[in-house]
Amino acid sequence: MRQAMYSLRKRVMVTGGAGFLGSHLCDRLLADGHEVLCVDNLFTGTKQNVEHLRDHPHFEFLRHDVTFPLYVEVDEIYNLACPASPIHYQHDPVQTTKTSVHGAINMLGLAKRLGCKILQASTSEVYGDPSINPQTEDYWGNVNPIGIRSCYDEGKRCAETLFFDYHRQHQLPIKVARIFNTYGPRMHPADGRVVSNFIMQALQDEPITIYGDGSQTRSFCYVDDLISGLIALMDSPEGVTGPVNLGNPVDFTMVELAQKVIELTGSASTLANADLPADDPKQRKPNIGRARDLLGWEPKVPLEEGLKMTIGHFRGMLDAQRG
Ligand code: NAD
Ligand code: UDP
Ligand code: UDP
Repeated sequence: MRQAMYSLRKRVMVTGGAGFLGSHLCDRLLADGHEVLCVDNLFTGTKQNVEHLRDHPHFEFLRHDVTFPLYVEVDEIYNLACPASPIHYQHDPVQTTKTSVHGAINMLGLAKRLGCKILQASTSEVYGDPSINPQTEDYWGNVNPIGIRSCYDEGKRCAETLFFDYHRQHQLPIKVARIFNTYGPRMHPADGRVVSNFIMQALQDEPITIYGDGSQTRSFCYVDDLISGLIALMDSPEGVTGPVNLGNPVDFTMVELAQKVIELTGSASTLANADLPADDPKQRKPNIGRARDLLGWEPKVPLEEGLKMTIGHFRGMLDAQRG
């Protein structure tokens, strides 16, 4: 058994490995017996997210910005490096686009030199403010090219273009995952995303900030499910390039989400309305037929269960802060 595991061991690089999704991916790859090279410039990720892996004999951390070339030897690459929450990716929008575009070029160049598989963490944001619901992979999207979300949306769209051109032009084995809203432990508590905001507000009995009238919809995938989807996509047959939607197809309005968080935390918080940010998509929900057919994947963790685990994580953080 040990022998079999050793012979299957791969050296896997995870860019953005100290972030929310990346750190869970590092955990899973190590648990599966692989070696992990975690590459991160710690812009939004933290060393704390991978602190528990520091002494793991198969884990290595490299502080590096993917907008600069990188020469290493690996068998597979997961390219997750990119700030993901609106307040983070709008903080330095030029750097956000550089990370998506120059980062993709460098990581694709690396994969091309090594002849190795590379997976791109793309996003449901490539659909923009979608005019169809649920979104299928053949929908081209409705994206504002000059708005405040464009640095992220267009950067990710250009990265997809680069992945498919390296595939067509250089026969590079690629995998493109379009990730829909994902939540869970190790989300940054101040990243402004709706799940982290609502839970932090509820745990401190502060008003829950509903942007606009709260009728906009999102579907929320628990992190463990998403990681299983990413690995299933990476391990899929060579002909499977994607793009493949990965997310939970059950959608909720933001008011419903707020009510669920209040109920699960037993909070005394009330709802408070705030301005809706520009270009905020009105609806978002994945059609996951392709992931079901090609990967045999679908999410298993219902929102209530995933929220309880996430609430437990944030409660622990607040308790630790209070001493
Ligand atoms: P995150 O901010 O926690 O992680 C991103 C990581 O990338 C951070 O550790 C950050 O320090 C690192 N990074 C940023 N710029 C970098 C650079 N130039 N060089 C090296 N490292 C850099 O966000 P996340 O939620 O874990 O998202 C991970 C990936 O998944 C992102 O590419 C994001 O676009 C994608 N995604 C996430 C979601 C979601 O709901 N969480 C949804 C769709 C897509
Ligand atoms: N690159 C890298 N690591 C490598 C190989 C390439 O970071 O191991 C970068 C390099 O900076 C290059 C980019 O990837 O600019 C694209 O590489 P490619 O071979 O596609 O193009 P070229 O080198 O011809 O520009
Ligand atoms: N949102 C909200 N209150 C908050 C944070 C976000 O009502 O405190 C809304 C936001 O306007 C959006 C949805 O929740 O409609 C999801 O926002 P998030 O930033 O988590 O992700 P994205 O917009 O990228 O899907």
